[in-house]
Amino acid sequence: MLQHEHFDVVVIGGGPAGTSAAILLAKAGKHVVLFERSAFPRFHIGESLLPACWEIWRRLGVTTKIEAEGFTVKQGINFGMFNQKPDVVLLTAEYPEYFERPYTYHVERARFDEILLEHAEECGVIVRREWSVSEVLFEDGLAIGVTAGPNNKLATTIYSLVVIDASGRDSLIARKLGWRQPLPDLNKVSHFTHFKGAFRRNPHDIVTFGEVIDGSVTTDIHTIDGGWVWYIPLRDNITSVGVVLDTRYSKKLGDSPQTCFDKAIANCNCVSDWLSEATQIMDIKTISSIGYLNEHFHGDGFVLVGDASMFVDPVFSAGVTLAMRSGVLAADAILDGFANGRDFSADRLSQYEKCIRKPMDNIFKMIYNWYRILERKDANNIILRSRQIPMLREQFIVLLSGGYDKVTIKQILAAADEPTSTYLIK
Ligand SMILES: Cc1cc2nc3c(=O)[nH]c(=O)nc-3n(C[C@H](O)[C@H](O)[C@H](O)COP(=O)(O)OP(=O)(O)OC[C@H]3O[C@@H](n4cnc5c(N)ncnc54)[C@H](O)[C@@H]3O)c2cc1C
Repeated sequence: MLQHEHFDVVVIGGGPAGTSAAILLAKAGKHVVLFERSAFPRFHIGESLLPACWEIWRRLGVTTKIEAEGFTVKQGINFGMFNQKPDVVLLTAEYPEYFERPYTYHVERARFDEILLEHAEECGVIVRREWSVSEVLFEDGLAIGVTAGPNNKLATTIYSLVVIDASGRDSLIARKLGWRQPLPDLNKVSHFTHFKGAFRRNPHDIVTFGEVIDGSVTTDIHTIDGGWVWYIPLRDNITSVGVVLDTRYSKKLGDSPQTCFDKAIANCNCVSDWLSEATQIMDIKTISSIGYLNEHFHGDGFVLVGDASMFVDPVFSAGVTLAMRSGVLAADAILDGFANGRDFSADRLSQYEKCIRKPMDNIFKMIYNWYRILERKDANNIILRSRQIPMLREQFIVLLSGGYDKVTIKQILAAADEPTSTYLIK
């Protein structure tokens, strides 16, 4: 007779959200299995991290491994707004007291995610690579396990006390329960690729505050017609370049992703110049309908973490940091359930959703306002004004370094002396 396996916790997906949750639960002695559909290392977009990651890495015990990798050091963000020179350069080192370290990294996600997955295994997580979860099993609304198996082979039932859905944009549970809500106001599409040999600025020209770390860079964000461009220098002379466009605008540019990308980049003088000697080394990849927000992030016996719960927009590079943070908060809520008679009811797990909604809310509002700024091409917008108003500058730097529970959009508007009606406070 077929013996079904039983675990304390099943984790679906080995991205940063899933591994963060799995690591903390395994370290606390729980019997955790993690299913990852892909063969690692695998390409993934999401290369610019935030300084708020340090405290998460410390909790996971993975700091030394990440430091040893020698990823490209990111000291801040450079905004090129409507060609209003000079660019707005926001460096975490200007307000170092808010974070464990005043810098972070640009990472190749293939390697970064692999480090986390290997660390999970070392911490005792049973990792099943190239295994897909086809279904989450429910009994009277309570998640009781999953159906999973090696890719293209027979799946079996695996029981658990709790299921963590960390399946990324697939959002396995939210789609099944009809919780996934698109965000029509943010109907964006992204086309992106990698280049070799693109221009690198001298860090001494951009890092005008604090210690200039050898070889360090900033994430560059430049506005263009219909959206914006990212320019993220990585190791080995490789640069990640992507455009995020209003979907209707992108369709007007052409049918093929390569044409849309080329035409959008041609609208950005500085990035066009930086790429003039470079070679594109990857086919264009496209992600459409970028933003969605699920109605709920938890239920009886399950939680949704990272992109499986929501994703709004990549402009402030919040995805990986929020994903890891949601994994940590979910693990904390589940451990609380273990400490309280193995109570994994929706009621007990609701603390997770309360904790993660607050930081998400702040970055969401900022993202909505970013697109308002782009629509108006407001030459006096709050990002440009952060050059003159020190309090506003401080709050932006904290927010854009990942301090989502350290500042609010209301504080930002107050510092800018802006009536809240000017900007969207949803
Ligand atoms: C255009 C774009 C640019 C971005 N740029 C940035 C950036 O610069 N910085 C940043 O921080 N974030 C960025 N992001 C966001 C970032 O990519 C995500 O927020 C982050 O990867 C979320 O991590 P996760 O662990 O939730 O999901 P993922 O990293 O997507 O991991 C989910 C994992 O689950 C696995 N999986 C899925 N379904 C199953 C299944 N049924 N069974 C088993 N395994 C399964 C997948 O193979 C995958 O490995 C960007 C996003 C987009 C769309």
